[in-house]
Amino acid sequence: MVSDIERWEKEGRRDILSQLDDVGRMWVDPVTKEPIIGDCPFLKEDLPGYYSCKIQHTKPTICRNFKPTKFNAGDLGCKGYDDD
Ligand code: SF4
Repeated sequence: MVSDIERWEKEGRRDILSQLDDVGRMWVDPVTKEPIIGDCPFLKEDLPGYYSCKIQHTKPTICRNFKPTKFNAGDLGCKGYDDD
């Protein structure tokens, strides 16, 4: 099974890889490598109150698991998942 990081390297997704810290954890500032506070940088507001994922086709495994488990979506600031 190809890891998220291997897939992004194959796809040349420097924009996503820059969001990883030195041990491969996601959602850090590309410059400071400090954890991002607030919404995921790949969250896009299409219309007021309506969101989508800018990297839907290659989003991380943890995000692919939102739907069956409701796992971590709130903590990641992903408004693309509706918990109601
Ligand atoms: S699914 Fe949400 S948290 Fe995951 S990458 Fe996309 S916008 Fe970010």
